[in-house]
Amino acid sequence: MHIKQFIGAARLFIRSCREFAPGSLYIFLKNHIIRRTKNILRIKEETQPDILGIEITTYCPWRCKDCYVPVELRKDRTVIEEDLLSLTLTQTRKYGIRLYGYMGGEPMREDTIPLILKVASQNRDLTFIICTNGYDIARHGASQFINAPNVGVLLSFDGFEETNDGIRGRGSYKNVMQAASQLNQLKRIFGASITVRRENIDEVLSTDFISHLSNQGFKYVALVKYCATDEAHKDCEVTDNEIISRLAQLRMKTMTWPIFLQTNLVGDFFSFNRRSAHHTIYLGIRGDIYVKRENMLLPIGNVWSQTFEGIMTENTVVYGEKYYPINL
Ligand code: SF4
Repeated sequence: MHIKQFIGAARLFIRSCREFAPGSLYIFLKNHIIRRTKNILRIKEETQPDILGIEITTYCPWRCKDCYVPVELRKDRTVIEEDLLSLTLTQTRKYGIRLYGYMGGEPMREDTIPLILKVASQNRDLTFIICTNGYDIARHGASQFINAPNVGVLLSFDGFEETNDGIRGRGSYKNVMQAASQLNQLKRIFGASITVRRENIDEVLSTDFISHLSNQGFKYVALVKYCATDEAHKDCEVTDNEIISRLAQLRMKTMTWPIFLQTNLVGDFFSFNRRSAHHTIYLGIRGDIYVKRENMLLPIGNVWSQTFEGIMTENTVVYGEKYYPINL
């Protein structure tokens, strides 16, 4: 950790104490520290998954450019079964996972929110993050989360208004900013999830953009590399090396800022070490467990018919003629 980062970390902590509800800050910080401590104390190179991404629904009324969910699935309103969710949480928490991310489709809808809140109230020591485009919060506010200190929100967008709306549709940027303002007023834990692609790399990895996020109340930013789901969109991808060298420059300029930056390529900006990155495993809406290898989601088992621990002991997944590790 660079000496300047102590200043950034101290400013971030003071700001978070002022702007987040104390109960929420405690749970999020505690689970973050547990995860990082395990990471630091780890002896073996390989690492176990520390986040479960949950496909709570595939439904989404939006039509963003290059969405990874096929259009047919985006019309399906099915919500994950409560029994499946409870069973998976019971087993994955035993395995040490303390952070759960709801994904979709659009995971924040009137028929998913009651389930999210119920599960959060039954597991108050775990943290849950809903990754959303912010539309529901912009329309209906965020008061339903006031009594759910362990639920946070990750607002997903792709740049300033013109760039973002070119990718996600007109009005989408305003929804995000309105949602951020609502969450801020209610002292909810929230952050931004920004997908980095050819079209927006100059913009989103600039100090102007990060400073804008900070001014809008964002204190946590996850920068995620765009991965094309087919050959036709390969041009939209940026190479790992290009992103990492830009991130290194950005890191130097933002060290003292009260904002936490984290990426799936080099972990958090404090250590800038891939070992600090999150390792996500995924639960599909029908109980399948997936790992992501080389931009592909590979199924490794199903929690209806196997225990999570049983699935994980296999430790390799075969795709075609290749073997991939489950624990990286
Ligand atoms: S909001 Fe998400 S799920 Fe919906 S279309 Fe856009 S990228 Fe796809």
